[in-house]
Amino acid sequence: MTETRAPAGGARAADVDVVVVGAGFAGLYLLHKLRGLGFSVRVLEAAGDVGGTWYWNRYPGARCDIPTTDYTYSFDPALEAAWTWSEKYATQPEILRYAQFVAERYDLRRDIDFNTRVEAAHWDAAASRWRIRTSTDASVSAQHYIMASGCLSVPKAPDIPGAGRFQGPVYSTGRWPHQGVDFTGQRVAVIGTGSSGVQSIPLIAEQAAQLTVFQRTPNYSIPAGNGPVAPERRAPLEADRAAYRLAAKWSRAGVPSTPTQIYGRYSTPDVHAERFESAWKSGELVPILGVFADQILFPDSNAIVAGKVREKIRAVVANPETAELLCPKDHHFGTKRPCLDTGYYQTYNRPNVRLVDLRSQPITSITETGIDAGGEAMRFDAIVYATGFDAMTGAIVAVDITGRDGVTLKAKWAAGPITYLGLMSVGFPNFFMITGPGSPSVLSNMMVSIEQHVDWVSDCLVRLRNDGLTTIEPTPQAEAGWMQHSQDCAAITLFPSADSWYMGANVPGKPRVFLPYVGGVDAYRKACDEVVARGDLGLRRSGPAGTRCNDGLVRQLQPDVGMVLDMLAAMNLPTFDSMPPAAARAFLAQLSAARPPGPAVGEVKDGTFPGAAGPLNYRLYRPATPGPHPVVLYYHGGGWVLGSHDSDDPLLRDLCVRSGCLIVSVDYRHAPEARFPAAVDDAMAALRWVSTNATSLGGAAGPVAVAGWSAGANQAAVVSQLARDQGGPAIAGQLLLTPVTDGDRNTASYRENAEGYVLTASLMQWFFDHYADEADRHDPRIAPLRAASLAGLPPACIVTGQFDPLRDEGVAYAKALAAAGNRVQHIPARGHTHTSLTMIDVVVSGEPVRAEMAAALRGFFQPATVAA
Ligand SMILES: Cc1cc2nc3c(=O)[nH]c(=O)nc-3n(C[C@H](O)[C@H](O)[C@H](O)COP(=O)(O)OP(=O)(O)OC[C@H]3O[C@@H](n4cnc5c(N)ncnc54)[C@H](O)[C@@H]3O)c2cc1C
Repeated sequence: MTETRAPAGGARAADVDVVVVGAGFAGLYLLHKLRGLGFSVRVLEAAGDVGGTWYWNRYPGARCDIPTTDYTYSFDPALEAAWTWSEKYATQPEILRYAQFVAERYDLRRDIDFNTRVEAAHWDAAASRWRIRTSTDASVSAQHYIMASGCLSVPKAPDIPGAGRFQGPVYSTGRWPHQGVDFTGQRVAVIGTGSSGVQSIPLIAEQAAQLTVFQRTPNYSIPAGNGPVAPERRAPLEADRAAYRLAAKWSRAGVPSTPTQIYGRYSTPDVHAERFESAWKSGELVPILGVFADQILFPDSNAIVAGKVREKIRAVVANPETAELLCPKDHHFGTKRPCLDTGYYQTYNRPNVRLVDLRSQPITSITETGIDAGGEAMRFDAIVYATGFDAMTGAIVAVDITGRDGVTLKAKWAAGPITYLGLMSVGFPNFFMITGPGSPSVLSNMMVSIEQHVDWVSDCLVRLRNDGLTTIEPTPQAEAGWMQHSQDCAAITLFPSADSWYMGANVPGKPRVFLPYVGGVDAYRKACDEVVARGDLGLRRSGPAGTRCNDGLVRQLQPDVGMVLDMLAAMNLPTFDSMPPAAARAFLAQLSAARPPGPAVGEVKDGTFPGAAGPLNYRLYRPATPGPHPVVLYYHGGGWVLGSHDSDDPLLRDLCVRSGCLIVSVDYRHAPEARFPAAVDDAMAALRWVSTNATSLGGAAGPVAVAGWSAGANQAAVVSQLARDQGGPAIAGQLLLTPVTDGDRNTASYRENAEGYVLTASLMQWFFDHYADEADRHDPRIAPLRAASLAGLPPACIVTGQFDPLRDEGVAYAKALAAAGNRVQHIPARGHTHTSLTMIDVVVSGEPVRAEMAAALRGFFQPATVAA
């Protein structure tokens, strides 16, 4: 396999198996690993030595912000035993020493070309090799080309007028002089208050005669509480190092932790205070980013944490005006990476420190002697730019990477990076990225993510070699699917709301796309492992042994739906159809009690109404807005066997708030005690009673709409037909959420989704067996799809879930209603199951669908508007 030519006279091989760009932690581990697997490797590095981030960022105060117990290689237990970190958060010099120690230990430098910048890499299709050009004019070719070029390795050039005019020394935190800088007695300007600014400002302030900090956007920062590693932090690692590292690999952020289930929006101020203070005292990012399970999902929960951080800032900073300027108010907590500091806010109490707010006092120009801002000319002896990085994509597109058919990566990524798993990109065979866009990378402990990528890529190259194949490239379908999934993950969070470098917002002209994968290190690793387990899913591999491709999508469920399913699978709960109905009902009630309650509405009132065979319960939801409100009659789900006026409570609160409708959720008799057609008789009785009493219930006059979920949606569809046939009551519209519309169970969706998505094919059989005789199952009162005529029915909105056995019959009913001349809106809920849309505050990806459902309900009462 190897094409390495023996280096003549110490020269390095020009043709190798793998070229790696970068000798940071990613490049170093790649070299060690691939070399061990028998590949010839050459690493090309622009810097003068190893270390990457820690080679370049030598500014005062530079430290890691993930504790060193975790921010360290774990691939070799002997390496771990040979190195001891001195502090909770090590300084840059110590981390750089560690990188050098690793390079020496594994004799890595002999395969690294330092002071060598890669300028271009072109795919030579005829030779199936990458041809690489460097700043030293060295030309290298490789079968595989790997960018380990760093997510934060290209400092952002300051976009400030006059930059370049200043005659004194100018420093960039990301390119700090190796000999250090002495600011003693100087007037210093620091521009930028991101992580590098926050770390360096306190130390520069101690040295400088005067320090002026220019701030455009304040960041949230928490005190690092640095010092020796706390015993309670060391203990689990020392007790079982392997278990600790494994827990990190399967954690959300690459640091072992137990995520809370506590919601900020549903807990008390005491709980808020207790959880926040404990996270604050930890001085670590993972706890403060996880005070509440919902803080990155909902603004109200996030505001609790953000508000408390602001209280802390105000408590420290003596000058109230300065304190207000330092309080972030334009982004949700955690949507930009929070900083960890040592005495940052205290620094503003020093007499030699001044804060200039660039929003009210913008820089007009850098001058020869200083900075003009807001009409004030300020003189400085030195200027420090702490203006961040062109993150995640900067180093990759800085190289002219040209793939198949002469297409450049830069052109392909013009509207934002497009990758499969953040590892590869269509059109660029044998090209890999370490911690690339579309992978957890900067949202995680990078050491864990780097190791995972290096291991995955190495294993991939070994498989290719073992299979007698030479090239590998993702398929367009797989890549598009991953991008969709990655954007789905971001969309359910508050992340995209911030103008952050995660979004590319700090670089003028950079496309606004959420760059990292938000789904978590654990979910990501699972997807990568699954790609392998499913025969290199979505990867086209070819060579002398032929071409192999198992095309497909590794993730199609909405991310939160997938998480719920994983959680349920881990709980290994008994299934409803394994229990007698009474036990199943009690179990459902128990599950319902544990769910988030849903939003507050104006009024919730329970009562009874006359069912077909006696009184039945109902629950009424009244909006908080002034009435009278249009009235919706709702039938709960539960397969005619389970559920009650209480069982869909959070969904109905949500629908009431969103739609502004008064909702009356009614009970109906259940099977097997009362089999078909008892439920239908009660459903009709409810329709008559609610229609007659709409105004006395406080609702608006006029026809009511009917709605339901699952078997309840079946009831709503059936009463719509019966009311038509019986001459009333009039119905304004029917909202059918994942309805049962047929008595047969032989559709493709039944087969595809028979198991694994909560509502199983066998549970549906159990429902039907309890509810109705086989002979009745084509009766339109069970199978509305089979009605003799579907003409003249109320307008319908039908929601179907992609992973629902009932999907196809819902789709069929929507088509049949439309074909019969009815007004129909069909909402196919991509990535959803039969139950997921009802999981209020748990499945956030259901929100847009529920918003559409609410709009449909409103539209039933304004037909002219909707028709338009
Ligand atoms: C100040 C700071 C603190 C950080 N703290 C943490 C932390 O606490 N925890 C954490 O998880 N992450 C942290 N990070 C992120 C950090 O970048 C990663 O943890 C990690 O060091 C990245 O390693 P890498 O090898 O992927 O990339 P890098 O360390 O960035 O190395 C990439 C190398 O590639 C070289 N290179 C790039 N382009 C070319 C080219 N065209 N030709 C030749 N060479 C090239 C660069 O010179 C660089 O040396 C921090 C980043 C910064 C800037």
